[in-house]
Amino acid sequence: MMKSNHALVTGATSGIGYAMARRLVELGYRVSVNGLLGEEDPNDFLMSFGDRERVRFAEADLRSSQPIEKMMKEAKQAFGPISVLVNNAGIQHVSPVEDFAVEKWDAIIAINMSSAFHTIRLAVPDMKDLGWGRIINLASAHALVASPFKTAYVSAKHGVLGLTKTVALELAKHNITCTAICPGYVKTPLVEKQIPDTAKARGMTEQEVVEKVLLAAQPTGKFVTVEQIADAMEFLLSDGAANITGSALSIDGGWIAQ
Ligand code: NAD
Repeated sequence: MMKSNHALVTGATSGIGYAMARRLVELGYRVSVNGLLGEEDPNDFLMSFGDRERVRFAEADLRSSQPIEKMMKEAKQAFGPISVLVNNAGIQHVSPVEDFAVEKWDAIIAINMSSAFHTIRLAVPDMKDLGWGRIINLASAHALVASPFKTAYVSAKHGVLGLTKTVALELAKHNITCTAICPGYVKTPLVEKQIPDTAKARGMTEQEVVEKVLLAAQPTGKFVTVEQIADAMEFLLSDGAANITGSALSIDGGWIAQ
């Protein structure tokens, strides 16, 4: 049974992470919300959750370990031990491998993969003490198959799935599950931003990229919605999902079945 109702979600200022953090608040969790805010005032942002008391901003740039260590320590001090950890933050960069900017590679590996290692290693001792925990990593269809021009992203996402499986095995006897959600294309800022670069890399118009690259990958011909991802997360938190661990849960309109 759940003994702490503290959930931490990385990259929850936008897109999928924001939808999951909102769902966690609706489910009664107290939520530490990480992500970049730019110019937006954290308090104004937190007001958008509708229950200011149960959300707090968990500031950290996930590109390096020290801010993550600080974030995890402050989160525990504020809302108690973390029982639900959602590693969601991620960025994308689209370029042929020979032109791929080295700093983009480093940032993608750090944010999309290494940050999950750091939050997991720091959250697990408390989950073991609680005797219950749920770790959900937002991987991708690109944890299972590749697409050209996304070397760093595909490498990081395959790495996240390996991390998920390994952690699941280590924690299997502790009532702690570790799973990967593997979405296809979800219309969020992350996808919208890559359309112009993909158009350039493939010599297509932006409309052609949406129809012939993005939605062509998904037999349903529809974008996955952020609500569908939050629904999957909600199921993974339930007792019904206690034996789902080390798994890759595809939500991709049939993409990887092809
Ligand atoms: P998004 O761009 O809407 O949100 C990304 C979040 O990560 C934001 O909150 C941003 O502030 C945060 N972030 C970025 N760099 C950060 C840093 N250095 N430190 C802290 N936070 C940082 O993206 P999204 O589409 O909601 O993606 C969320 C996750 O889902 C990512 O891991 C992504 O790879 C994965 N995913 C997305 C899709 C899709 O089609 N959108 C498909 C498969 C997997």
